[in-house]
Amino acid sequence: MSNSTVRNLAQRDQAVIWHPYTQMSTAAEPLPVVRGDGARLILEDGRSILDMISSWWVTVHGHAHPKIADAIGLQARTLEQVIFAGCTHPQAVELAERLLVKIGAPMTRVFFTDDGSTAVEVGLKMAWQYWQNRGENRTRIIAMEHAYHGDTFGAMSVSARSVFTQAFNPLLFEVQSIPSPADVSEEVLFSALAEACRGDQAVAIILEPLVQGAGGMKMYSPAVLDRIVNYCQEKGVLVIFDEVMTGFYRTGKLLSAHHLQHRPDIICLSKGLTGGFLPMALTVCSDAVYEAFLSQDSGRMLFHGHSFTGNPLGCAAANASLSLFERPETQARIARIVALQAKAAEFFGHNERVTNVRQTGTILAMDLVQEGPAGYLNASGKAIAQHMLGHGILIRPLGEVIYLMPPYVTEPEDLELVYDRLDHELRRPD
Ligand code: PMP
Repeated sequence: MSNSTVRNLAQRDQAVIWHPYTQMSTAAEPLPVVRGDGARLILEDGRSILDMISSWWVTVHGHAHPKIADAIGLQARTLEQVIFAGCTHPQAVELAERLLVKIGAPMTRVFFTDDGSTAVEVGLKMAWQYWQNRGENRTRIIAMEHAYHGDTFGAMSVSARSVFTQAFNPLLFEVQSIPSPADVSEEVLFSALAEACRGDQAVAIILEPLVQGAGGMKMYSPAVLDRIVNYCQEKGVLVIFDEVMTGFYRTGKLLSAHHLQHRPDIICLSKGLTGGFLPMALTVCSDAVYEAFLSQDSGRMLFHGHSFTGNPLGCAAANASLSLFERPETQARIARIVALQAKAAEFFGHNERVTNVRQTGTILAMDLVQEGPAGYLNASGKAIAQHMLGHGILIRPLGEVIYLMPPYVTEPEDLELVYDRLDHELRRPD
C-alpha cells in the first residue's frame, strides 16, 4: 500500500462506524484514543486530553486503573461467563453481599442487567408486576419533566418527550408527568404529585434523584426529594430511584438516597458500578418488592434476563471498584473534588457569560447566556467544547448547559487548569 492510501484511525472509523448521538454527515472526526491513564486520554498522535466528563459519566477511578484491570484479567482466566439462570459464581455473590451492606435498609436483593437503560426497564417491570402479583391492576406510572432514563422503549417512555424521543413518541407508553423541583415551587410540585397519586392507580414514580442528568443537569435539594419519597410511599406508590448517573459518589455520597431520611423501594445502578470498565447494571429492591414475586406459581416470576446477566468480568471489576472506594485515600479524593467544584461554582458565579451556576457533589453545571432556543440541539456549548479541546480538555455540553464531571483521580492542579481555561473560553468575544 502506498503512503497516500494509508489512512489514520479516524478516517478508517469514518468509513465503517456509526456513532451514538452523532449526526454522521456533519460530525467532526472522532478523537482517536489509543490509551487511557487516570484522568487522561492519550491520542494516536501522542497528545494527552483531560477527560472532564468521565467518558459519559462512567470512569469514576480514572482510565485503565491497574487494580480493576488486574481483577478483570484474573477473572478472565478463571471464569469469563456463565449462564446466570440456574448458576451462580463467587464474584456475583460477593458483589451483591458487599453492595447491599453499603446501600443499607430496606434493600435486600439485586437483579443484574447490562446498562443503565436495562436497569430502568427492570425497575419498571418489577414495579408493574409487583401490583399484578398482588392482584391490583394499577396502570399509572409517574415520571418527571426533563427526565432522561435511557434509550430503550420503556426507558424512553418514562423520559421527557424531547428531541431524544421525537421520532418514537407514537410507540411510547403514556406516563403522568410532574414538574421538576428545579423549575417550580414546592406548592406547585406537590399539587401535581397529589393529582398523579390519586385513586390508588399509581404503580410507581421514577426519578433521577438530586440531579437530572441528560435533561440539562437540573439540580434540586435533598429536602424536597425526601418529601416526594415520603409523600408517594404514604400513598402506597412505589419509588424508583434511577441512580445510574448519581450513584457511586457523584453527589458526594455513595447514593443520592444516602442524603435522605426516607429510602426508595427500587434503585437502578450502572455507569460507575464497574469503575466504568465494563457494561453492567443492577436493579436493587426491598424485601417488600421481592416478596411479591414469591409464589408456587411460576407465572409470578420476573420474566427478564439477558445473555450476559451477572457477567463474572463485570462483577470482578465492580468488586475491585468497591475495594478502591473503601480506601480512605479515594474518599479523601472525592471530598477534595466536591470542595473544588463548590469553590468553582462561586468562581463561575462571577462570569457574566454563564448563569444558573450550580453544583451537587462532584458535578458542576452552568448555562451559557446565549440567544436562540435552549435545549440539546443548541450549538452554543459545542463552540466552547471545541476551544477547550484545542487546549487538551474534553467536555461535552448538553446544548447550552456546560458541566464538568471529572474522574475522582483528577489532580487538583488539573482541575484548576480546567476552571481557568473554561473561564477564559467563556469570556472570549467570539
Ligand atoms: N439513567 C440515567 C439517569 C442516565 O444518565 C443514563 C445514561 N446517561 C441512563 C439511565 C441510561 O444508561 P445507559 O446509557 O447505560 O443505557
